[in-house]
Amino acid sequence: IDDTAEQEALAIKPRRRIDVAAEYAKTQNQRQGLNLVVVGHVDAGKSTLMGHLLYALGQVSERTVKKFEREAEKIGKGSFAYAWVLDETDEERARGVTMDVATSTFETAHRQFTLLDAPGHRDFVPNMISGASRADVAMLVVDASTGEFESGFDGDGQTREHTQLVRALGVRQVVVAVNKLDTVGWSEDRYAEIVSRLQGFMQACGFSNNDVRFVPVSGLDGVNLVRRVGSEVPELAAWYRDGSATRPCLVELLDTFALPERTIKSPFRLAATDVFRGGSAGSAGSVSISGRIAQGTVQLGESVVVVPGGVSGIVRAIDVNFEPRDWAVAGDEAIVQVQGLDPLQVPTGAVLCAPEQPITAVTRFETQIAVFEPKVPITNGFPVLVHIQSISVPGTVQRIIETFDPRTGESKRKRPRHIRRGATARVEIVTESKLCLELFKDAKELGRIMLRRGGETIAAGIVTALHG
Ligand code: GDP
Repeated sequence: IDDTAEQEALAIKPRRRIDVAAEYAKTQNQRQGLNLVVVGHVDAGKSTLMGHLLYALGQVSERTVKKFEREAEKIGKGSFAYAWVLDETDEERARGVTMDVATSTFETAHRQFTLLDAPGHRDFVPNMISGASRADVAMLVVDASTGEFESGFDGDGQTREHTQLVRALGVRQVVVAVNKLDTVGWSEDRYAEIVSRLQGFMQACGFSNNDVRFVPVSGLDGVNLVRRVGSEVPELAAWYRDGSATRPCLVELLDTFALPERTIKSPFRLAATDVFRGGSAGSAGSVSISGRIAQGTVQLGESVVVVPGGVSGIVRAIDVNFEPRDWAVAGDEAIVQVQGLDPLQVPTGAVLCAPEQPITAVTRFETQIAVFEPKVPITNGFPVLVHIQSISVPGTVQRIIETFDPRTGESKRKRPRHIRRGATARVEIVTESKLCLELFKDAKELGRIMLRRGGETIAAGIVTALHG
């Protein structure tokens, strides 16, 4: 047979179904990606520590650090050089505060981290939330110096608040960097005291002790970050050991984070962040939809449906990290080209789904929220912007059901008139247009929302009931 006949035969032959779960399992020994959020009280040393870590891992050139050092010396803040690796704007430099969520990546032996750096200043909690809502795992940085751990942990400090929020947003695994231990002569007693206080608290927040690891470090001097401590710091090397071997450094602990469960058995969902006509497999009668696959798998030749709207088409091409693929799975940033759709049928915020189990699009749902620092208390009828993934729609807090204790889940007050800063509450939300949502218990990524108003994030929440 000639070439054209063969091609026609191939085109009509039903494509052999790929066992995506099996194919995916074969790739499991490759380096796997995790989103890391860094939290902790202002001045705990988060920026310095991460800046030093990125530098030691070769992510930042010597030249950049030298340049920052010179600039820092000029204004008499020499030790800020490493923090500046992460702090971008001049305004932040002048104030010495990390304001926005800066992102960066680094690799350890088995993991590739996307760093969602978070600020510690009280005004900037909303930014921390947007980082935390995308996090798989967290690093909590605490300042071990005399009196400073206490001021971050007791009363008004952010150590507790951040830890609770991170847990409320679904993060289970945490590495706690007990930082600035150089300021207390690498005291083992001080380290043990901090570990014991935090362990109790974190357990009460709902963390399991096995998922929380502690490590003594100095972000400023770069001790125990990427290399195990040796004779250069004898005070620490003397006790941070098991028998003859010193214990793991920070990067080793990061490297042992378990991979978040990629929910490949769940029905396919891809939340559209971008939609364009045509694609890598030609343009006739097709659209390409890009976004992160929230759950499930997709393969060439499969049929998929768009929610809201309900139109469906056939998958013509799949690209992951700009390379063509036969299949893709949860966690992949993908571009899926679908035959038989028009771009107008796929609004941003739409979700591409498995046709047999599409996502629900609702305008009324219940959510458990952690409230941050709204300028005015949240009341019934409070207008908000509801954010999920990269989209937002206007809505209102229709009904405050109750406030509750986040640690025990016990109700504190039924139908309160308003919700105050820092409280946790169950509320019902009504939106002006349809939102594609899942219950958080079934699907984390599509079950986490944020509420914003007047340019500030006022609360983060998880979806607990869908009302149509
Ligand atoms: P952030 O607000 O948590 O990002 O804290 P920064 O990284 O800006 O650090 C706050 C201050 O603590 C700066 O003056 C740092 O130089 C200092 N610092 C950070 N890490 C250490 C450390 O390991 N040892 C000591 N002695 N000082 C540190």
